[in-house]
Amino acid sequence: MQISQSQIEQVNKQIQALVNAKSFYGKKLADAGITGISSAEDFESLPFSEKADLRDAYPLGLMTAPEDKIVRIHSSSGTTGLPVIIPYTRKDVDDWATMFARCYEMAGITKEDRIQITPGYGLWTAGIGFQAGCEKLGAMAIPLGPGNTEKQLQMMMDLKSTVICATSSYALLLAEEIEKRGIRDKICLKKGVIGSERWGEAMRKRISTELGIELYDIYGLTEIYGPGIGINCKYDTGMHYWDDYIYIEIIDPVTLKPVPDGEQGEIVITTLVKEGAPLIRYRTHDLSKIIPGECPCGSKYPRLGVIMGRTDDMMKIKGVNVFPSQIEEVLSEIPDASSEYQIRISHLDGKDTMRLYVEAVSGHVDFAELGQHIAEKVKGKIGFTPIVKIVELGMLPRSEKKSKRVIDERYE
Ligand code: ZN
Repeated sequence: MQISQSQIEQVNKQIQALVNAKSFYGKKLADAGITGISSAEDFESLPFSEKADLRDAYPLGLMTAPEDKIVRIHSSSGTTGLPVIIPYTRKDVDDWATMFARCYEMAGITKEDRIQITPGYGLWTAGIGFQAGCEKLGAMAIPLGPGNTEKQLQMMMDLKSTVICATSSYALLLAEEIEKRGIRDKICLKKGVIGSERWGEAMRKRISTELGIELYDIYGLTEIYGPGIGINCKYDTGMHYWDDYIYIEIIDPVTLKPVPDGEQGEIVITTLVKEGAPLIRYRTHDLSKIIPGECPCGSKYPRLGVIMGRTDDMMKIKGVNVFPSQIEEVLSEIPDASSEYQIRISHLDGKDTMRLYVEAVSGHVDFAELGQHIAEKVKGKIGFTPIVKIVELGMLPRSEKKSKRVIDERYE
């Protein structure tokens, strides 16, 4: 998916704005003597930007428009150190809502729908993005925010919500609660818009089957507007993304060179029309690929594959690169295994050990047999045999936030 001439012109405007504003990244470009580009090769020689750079610009060093044009800031958390602050102009806020409304439309959601929003509101880009897109579309927003499962279910029944927006772990928790309480016939949900974390096919199937709904993956990150820059259509052949607002390239995270369409690598995003804080070649550390060819839905928007993990999720165990997504792929093909798992890595007697805890779907399963089966399948995928321990359904931690599934005890 090479950058087009019109996208190159848009990038040039972003570069000029950054340089003129003498913002954090503008100074970097000016120091490197970059004033514009004229070809795809030029584009590929532009320096990358990284989350660490954005953090160095704290608090408002990324601001590229005059302050009287800034209407809002959002912030992405740093698990360590300073957060990243992204300023938005009125146009940025409006563009984001337009992209988000497009996502809902791509999912077949209309102004007749009632959209229950469970992601958090506040400094995060989550809740408010889901809400702005919903209002732009003209649907009814039911802005509950996270938590309070009791109230979520009550409102879902009383207001007859037709769409649920949630993280995958919270959607799973809600599905399990609905099942437990036997209230499924009082639930009117038809679709789920699920964002903000990587999730496996097995978990997806469970949520979709238990709630009887169609699921749509929404993509985005605070540094680039927020969720809403891409979503899958009903053919589920990858997420269409809005290439009139962003340009996406996939690079090899080691050589930093772009890889051909269809090959896995790291997603790198360039904003094309952002005013408050334009970003050039921002390394997301998310792993995916561009899906070549055309989607049966006929949309001309290009497609990104499912997010396979993070470049920093990569675990080096016994000298082998292992991704949690590989474990998820294995589990998704084993009907007796649930989608929930936990990996613990330790170092014993001079050797790395990987222990894999997996929930069985029911107590009628032979745990020993299932454990051995999973161990063999995982070995086939990653090249060595983990110690597999099967536990009862519901034993592993669920969370309303991003699940922490890998515990590395080697360096504690
Ligand atoms: Zn499509």
